[in-house]
Amino acid sequence: SRAKVVVIGGGYGGATAAKYVRLLSDHKIDVVLIEPNEAFVSCPISNLVVGGSRQIAEITSPYTELTRRHGIVRVRDSATAIDTTARSVKLAGGATIAYDKLVVSPGVELQFGSIEGLQAAHASGQILQAWKAGPETVALRRQLEAMPDGGVYAITIPEAPYRCPPGPYERASQVAWYFKHFKPRSKVLILDANPDVTSKGPLFKKVWAEQYKGIVEYRGQHKTVAVDAKAGLVKFEVHEDVKAQVINALPSMRAGAIAVQAGLNNMANNRWCGVNYQSFESTAARDVFVVGDSIQIAPAMPKSGHMANSHAKVAAAAIVAQLAGWELNPAPMLNNTCYSFVDDRNVVHVASVHAYDAAEKTFKTVAGSGGVSTGPTELEGVYAMNWAQNIWADTLG
Ligand code: FAD
Repeated sequence: SRAKVVVIGGGYGGATAAKYVRLLSDHKIDVVLIEPNEAFVSCPISNLVVGGSRQIAEITSPYTELTRRHGIVRVRDSATAIDTTARSVKLAGGATIAYDKLVVSPGVELQFGSIEGLQAAHASGQILQAWKAGPETVALRRQLEAMPDGGVYAITIPEAPYRCPPGPYERASQVAWYFKHFKPRSKVLILDANPDVTSKGPLFKKVWAEQYKGIVEYRGQHKTVAVDAKAGLVKFEVHEDVKAQVINALPSMRAGAIAVQAGLNNMANNRWCGVNYQSFESTAARDVFVVGDSIQIAPAMPKSGHMANSHAKVAAAAIVAQLAGWELNPAPMLNNTCYSFVDDRNVVHVASVHAYDAAEKTFKTVAGSGGVSTGPTELEGVYAMNWAQNIWADTLG
């Protein structure tokens, strides 16, 4: 009988893995993709929706090509349990699906409990994260539109590692761009648990000092411990409370809930999932492959969509090889580029190349590879939009 691969999560990692198992097996392996959302909504470019220069429709893509062109069976449901012994996945709708190989790419779980008061403030819609693109992205935009001129937008950042290292700084820049043009008496406060800007620091700081002088204020070493939605307060371990009209509080993150439920989170205080970097097979369960933000990353590798897409291709190759009985001993070479929009069209990037090191069984950043922009340019803005169009086509097309 035909081999069956089940994929949990139709985001950057899961959708790519589903498509590439089909392509690399010449459509001989059956693939089932489990994803509750009707369409794919991209986190990359979503900060521009928050800033107001793009619409949510521009970052939304259907799943129809995966089904129509690649013959993937899409199940619109959530996985609620994985039985790694019986090799099956249970769905919220009640069905159970058996697999020969399983790909798990559920993204991150936001740990609301890491900030006192956040769970209730999130549930009531008063304090948003918008760290999973979709309706919350639009809701955060509405909060900014409703804020009177002269107000304060505060974004709080957890200790690294978290999803998308430059993401919070890009978002702060987007909100600053909006304020500069439409609410010039308003302020952006960046409250960072880390000692300093964790990605493209000098570039962002220069933009804030020059382009957004008097609008953006950055405070490092500010670990948020509590929020008071009613009073509009952010509270810290040592510093004085901060008042803001729009609070965008990002809590600590860990592997997606289904990965935790299945016990795949065997690294870093049970926050992330250990994998063999030659295949992305879980070190906690056989025939299970974890890709994307849920994994324990090697040093200097970001939790990015670009990386998730690359993990997925390595995993797909390993799965097809295992099912065919081929012996592989790959040395994967991955690269990453993260573009950040500092306004509606100017962009900076950071790039890196990561090579598998057989002796130490990890990825090492290739010396002399990658680098950062010298400063924001419109040309890089064109590259950034082309990067997005290309990765959406590669993942879903
Ligand atoms: P996701 O893409 O989030 O996919 C997870 C999917 O799993 C979701 O569709 C979810 O619905 C589904 N799912 C979860 N649980 C279950 C379940 N139990 N059953 C079934 N399905 C489930 N990266 C870049 O490379 N470049 C950028 O410019 C960039 N900008 C960003 C900006 C922002 C504001 C943010 C928040 C992130 C950004 N990222 C960027 C990071 C990127 O979005 C993530 O690294 C990437 O989405 C990770 O892929 P993933 O497959 O792990 O998770």
